[in-house]
Amino acid sequence: MEMFIGGRFVEFPGLERFPVINPATEEVVDTVPLAGEAQVDLAVQEAHRAFPGWWDTPAARRGEILMAAVERVRANAEELARTLTLEQGKPLREARLEIRRFLHTIEHYAGLAKNLRGGYVPNLDEGTYGLVLKRPLGVVAAIVPWNFPTTLLANKLGPALVTGNTVVAKPAETTPLTTLRIAALFHEAGLPPGVFNVVTGLGPVAGEVLVRHPLVRKVAFTGSTPVGKRIMALAAEGVKRVTLELGGSDPMIVCDDADLDAAAKAAAVGRFFNCGQACLAVKRLYVFENVYEAFMERFLPRVERLRLGPGLSEDSQMGPLHTERQRRLIEEQLRDGLESGGRLLLGGGRPEGLQKGYFFSPTVVLEPGLDSRLAREEVFGPVLPVWRVRSLEEAVELANRSPYGLGSTIFTRSLERASYALERLEAGYTWVNSVNRIYDELPFGGMKESGYGKEHGLEALEYYQETKAGVVRWR
Ligand code: NAD
Repeated sequence: MEMFIGGRFVEFPGLERFPVINPATEEVVDTVPLAGEAQVDLAVQEAHRAFPGWWDTPAARRGEILMAAVERVRANAEELARTLTLEQGKPLREARLEIRRFLHTIEHYAGLAKNLRGGYVPNLDEGTYGLVLKRPLGVVAAIVPWNFPTTLLANKLGPALVTGNTVVAKPAETTPLTTLRIAALFHEAGLPPGVFNVVTGLGPVAGEVLVRHPLVRKVAFTGSTPVGKRIMALAAEGVKRVTLELGGSDPMIVCDDADLDAAAKAAAVGRFFNCGQACLAVKRLYVFENVYEAFMERFLPRVERLRLGPGLSEDSQMGPLHTERQRRLIEEQLRDGLESGGRLLLGGGRPEGLQKGYFFSPTVVLEPGLDSRLAREEVFGPVLPVWRVRSLEEAVELANRSPYGLGSTIFTRSLERASYALERLEAGYTWVNSVNRIYDELPFGGMKESGYGKEHGLEALEYYQETKAGVVRWR
């Protein structure tokens, strides 16, 4: 496919191209061009040109156009889900769910179009009132990773467009196809040319050119913490706004008064959904020692039953890892965890019978060292370390021993324990008796090295608008 710039697919003959690989078969699905400075500049210029017109469009009309785009995407949902599975590797049922989440989020922001508000402050002085004005920022760069290419795009696209900004998106080089298709569908639904552009290319090249471009006023980034730090530093040179949704190593605590069936199910879904490649996956499990055996009796059989297979097969519950690089990283982290004293309870390597594709068996490790890579690093794959704890205080202390602070979960029937966890866990989201479901209604964003700023909720709108004060003397 080609890049989508100024309302159409634009060919750039002679540009080097990047192969998009199906992670289940290792076959090339398609190729996309690798943008350089000239192509990124063209996309930003188009977005800049489209900005005044989109800002001037009445907010309610912007909402209507976004709703029309939602309908257009919905009508093509099945085709989009298949494309997503082909390029990302996730099972079709998860790809369908992801497209539904995309639609929910865009619909949510389209619905807010008539509720955009500023403020009025009477009698600042005699005959003088004040105004709190809101205006869009201008061109927004949306940089997205490969694990949830469409929902993470929606989190930026929805609030950016409804508040009157224009967007240049850069998907991960390995998952550009669904995004390009969605951009075309938005324009078929009536979005003016230049309002939403997509460039394809490598992070350190196309991504950095985009972040540095003087006409880009904000960078909305989801990805790894090291790249987030780099983007924050680059954005600082132009005093640009940033929102950074970065890595996570979410803890889950299972107390001895918990509903153990519900907790076991939540831990299995929470860790192995998307083959463990979710920022909000359950990445560390702390179980009260007096219910450890009872919990494991429920948890391990659930994990063992997970059916691995290519995403396009309706039967598959867990697909492959996204790339071979990802699989090697998981193998190294697991090896380190076992060398540090961890005991393998389940899985531990590549499954038999799936010769092609980047498959990895669901794996559970008991008590690797607290300084091992499984404990300290983000584990972006289907490996779960488990520790036994004696008290909630101990569990929370261990849970907070991480540079990350994205999500967290506690299973308990005690209001006191739940409240303690809600107050003390250093994480942007805490679920009590449920796991890693994100709601459009609530603000989402990490603490510590998991990020800066919020997506979702009304709060997200603030990150796409400039607030200015007005003073009017009328007598
Ligand atoms: P990544 O940081 O390598 O890449 C993310 C995006 O940034 C890609 O589009 C990439 O091309 C681009 N990029 C890379 N280097 C860049 C640079 N120097 N300048 C500009 N852009 C650059 O991340 P990844 O490995 O693709 O994604 C996985 C990571 O994303 C994990 O750490 C995961 O936890 C995180 N993540 C966070 C959230 C969240 O909401 N907090 C959600 C999903 C994923």
